[in-house]
Formats: sequence, C-alpha cells, structure tokens
Amino acid sequence: MNFRDLKVVAIGAHPDDVEYGCYTVLSRCYEPVMVNLTRGEHGGEHNIREKESRATAELLNARLIQLTLEDTNINLREAATALEKIIRDESPDVVLTMTEPDLHQDHVTVAKATTIALREYEGLVLGYQTPSNIVTFQPDIYFEISNDEFLAKMQALRVHATQSNRRYLGEDALRSVSRFWATATRTEFEYVEAFKILRWVVPLSER
Ligand SMILES: [Zn+2]
Repeated sequence: MNFRDLKVVAIGAHPDDVEYGCYTVLSRCYEPVMVNLTRGEHGGEHNIREKESRATAELLNARLIQLTLEDTNINLREAATALEKIIRDESPDVVLTMTEPDLHQDHVTVAKATTIALREYEGLVLGYQTPSNIVTFQPDIYFEISNDEFLAKMQALRVHATQSNRRYLGEDALRSVSRFWATATRTEFEYVEAFKILRWVVPLSER
C-alpha cells in the first residue's frame, strides 16, 4: 500500500502519541496532518510540550492541529465534535487514530470519539499502537520500516525532551516493540509499524 498520494490525518490524545504510533507511515504521506487533542499539561509545561510537537511536525512536513482539551480528562462530546469538524474540513483519505482497549483513559476517549466522529466517513481508519495497549493490541496491517526510518522516528521522539524519563519512549523499548511485531509477521522484516483496521468503507469506484 502506497501512502504517497494519500492525504492522512493522524489523531492523538497527547503530544508524542502520534510520533510513537505512526511516525514512519505518516512520514510517507502526502500532506500529513497531526492532531493533538490536548497539550499534555500533566506531563510537562503545556507551552513546551506544544513546541516539541511543532518541532516534530516540522520534521514530518506535517501540519499540526493543536487542540486544548483537558489532559487526563478529555471530554468525549467535545472531542467527537472537534474531530468531526476536522475530518469535514480536511477530507482525508486515511485516518490514523487510537484504539480500545487501552490503559490510558484519554486514549480510550480518543478511540471512542473517533468512532463517533467518523460514523459517516468514507475512507480507511487505522488504529495505531500506544505505550499503554501493548499487551492487548491486535494488529492486522504491518508496514515494514527500514533501520534509517526507525532511527528517524527515535530522533523525533527525542525531540519530546520533557518526556525523556519515560522508559517506553526509549530506544530499547521502541526497538523491542517494533521488532516484536516484525517477528509476528513471520517475514524477514526487521522493524514494523503495526495497525488495526477500524473501519473501511469502499464506495463504488465510478462515483
Ligand atoms: Zn498519550
């Protein structure tokens, strides 16, 4: 699957979610858009966290839509309404988002809000992995990523200096997860980004 001609919107609860789950696939897309629903103010000063996200968006050549919902307490209705508007405005071919179950309540809310916001969406919706759903995540799609792409993703995660104490964002942890899913494919792939199909509505091609 070639994402180069596709417009992709990637949705995350906090600065660094999108980078962790789908940085490489997003880096291959046409006009990528990142959406952070919160500024992650429980994990650091919100202006700094937003700046870190803007810096990774620049690395990706992505446009960042930074919302200001409350970190650790995202309101479902507000999130669904905001996402519905973004999807209407952006009209993406593919949406990347969070999934349930997940051990972080904001991630669960984002997953629910996306389902509600995209109830009439005609396109592909894929769920990406987070640090808090590793045990329960059951992917369907695996994108091979090169060692250079893995290193670029690590570089982007390091831009989030406020999160440098998070073990799950460290190189060892991410290398393990990326290799784990690569092993699961029973291929020679060394690293992958893995996704779950959440919704796929296929219209008549002649329409
Ligand atoms: Zn998060």
